[in-house]
Amino acid sequence: MTWQTNIVPPKGLPVFEPGWVWLVGAGPGDPGLITLHGVNALAQADVIVYDALVDTRILDMAKPHAERIFAGKRGGKPSPTQTSISERLVELAKAGHRVLRLKGGDPFVFGRGGEEALALVGAGVPFRVVPGVTAAIAGTAYAGMPATHRDANSAVTFITGHSMTGEVPDNLNWDAVTNGAPVLIFYMAIKHFGRIAEKLQECGRPADEPVAFVASATTADQKVHVCTLDTAAEVAKKVSPPAIVVVGPVVKLREQLDWLGKAAEWQAKAADPV
Ligand code: SAH
Repeated sequence: MTWQTNIVPPKGLPVFEPGWVWLVGAGPGDPGLITLHGVNALAQADVIVYDALVDTRILDMAKPHAERIFAGKRGGKPSPTQTSISERLVELAKAGHRVLRLKGGDPFVFGRGGEEALALVGAGVPFRVVPGVTAAIAGTAYAGMPATHRDANSAVTFITGHSMTGEVPDNLNWDAVTNGAPVLIFYMAIKHFGRIAEKLQECGRPADEPVAFVASATTADQKVHVCTLDTAAEVAKKVSPPAIVVVGPVVKLREQLDWLGKAAEWQAKAADPV
């Protein structure tokens, strides 16, 4: 057991007032990646409206009597619509609850937190936003790939591979995206990655460009598949969501920086240094 009971939260963390909604990022999976603001929110919330990608161990940090409302897809049933979630948040806040809207990763990165925040503003409900560690940042880190690296890239682009209509986004300038930053990190792109890999090659990326799929990043089920753009369509078929796709030179650094893969070896060495 390495948990220290003498951890004292910093003074001045905000008080969760009744009638407020806090939009909180839970991080991508590993419960250790939630922020202290997130834990502070859990400690005070009356109602928690949470998404499918939130680890139940995070919910265990809430007050025992806090109401937990699942707002994701379950057992093949369609997920509640965005409008119905926003309406629910407004209703709960107006009833005087402290409402914690807990979302995977960061609420404002491909998380529709902006839509919920706009609905709250429209209804006159006060709110706070607590950022979370987004999947692209945590997923690259846990796979041993810096999102930026001085010799490799001075820019990185986050892209969704899935538009509102469920297709490859067509409102993107693919030529600009392909050539704008050496490293591209895609969310929600597994289904369409075959088409995306084609577009990237049509716009100038080489067929042997390194690609990594990082699935269930930061969880016990994390799986990393490394390949190249010309083989990525086939590899994508074997990847189970959720996953991010990393395209570009930093993928190569995993050969040296896969700290998670080396952890067992390093621990064994530390325990038996000879
Ligand atoms: N707001 C979230 C993103 C939600 S969109 C964030 O900031 O991370 C859902 C997409 O996020 C998934 O399709 C996948 O591309 C990515 N994602 C979320 N959790 C993930 C995880 N643990 N591992 C890999 N990708 C993840």
